[in-house]
Amino acid sequence: MELPKLNLHIHSKYSDGRNTTSQIVSAALDKGLDYICITDHFTNSWKADVIPNLNSLAKIEMYLDEIDQFQKYLHDEERQMALFKGIEIDLSSTEKFIVNNILPTRFDILLFEYLESIEGIFFIKKIINYWKGKTKNSTDFPLMGLAHFDPSFFAINGMNILIDFLTEHRIFFEFNTSYPQFYSQKYRSFFDQLKERNVLVSIGCDSHHISTLKDIEEAYDRIKFYELESNLIDLVKILDKKRI
Ligand SMILES: [Zn+2]
Repeated sequence: MELPKLNLHIHSKYSDGRNTTSQIVSAALDKGLDYICITDHFTNSWKADVIPNLNSLAKIEMYLDEIDQFQKYLHDEERQMALFKGIEIDLSSTEKFIVNNILPTRFDILLFEYLESIEGIFFIKKIINYWKGKTKNSTDFPLMGLAHFDPSFFAINGMNILIDFLTEHRIFFEFNTSYPQFYSQKYRSFFDQLKERNVLVSIGCDSHHISTLKDIEEAYDRIKFYELESNLIDLVKILDKKRI
């Protein structure tokens, strides 16, 4: 089975990436990727002082407008590659900062980074419930995922709560090739549960430069190893509905 080529975790100059949206889109086309998502950082934690990020409504609007233009270009040119609007939300941000700046329906994908505790799950749940309460049409709601999630935080305690949470909100687990240590066989039971419970899986490489845009092979190896191909295909079906 030939799986499409995805990289749904890419940073641009809007945060700490080195390239513009235009450079990313043209390099991704050259490299033959099928689905890409730009996911710049969003935070008001201490990291905001060291990592440039999408820290204001005005900057987020500029960022989304720019991706919009390239989505239209790809559509008008009938290119096979789909481009998505994403954002990577640091869970050490304050709840107020997140809900005041992020209108979820403006995005295709929301990535959450640094989910490391059961409290973190409740924090995300509260925000999702607030957002969903404000969203009239549930099909407008973005796909959500855990960026470079480290299973070790839940290996001893909370794995069932985590898997229930991922299943309930159709939240994907990302195979991020910058963090191969998270896909070790010592987490086999975690990956078996992803398969058993049909949790969506995604692929990203946390690309900060166009030279790494297609560094995704290791993720395909792991997905095949843990027999999660159909979980990836389910994600692709959702992406196909979201593309313009
Ligand atoms: Zn990232």
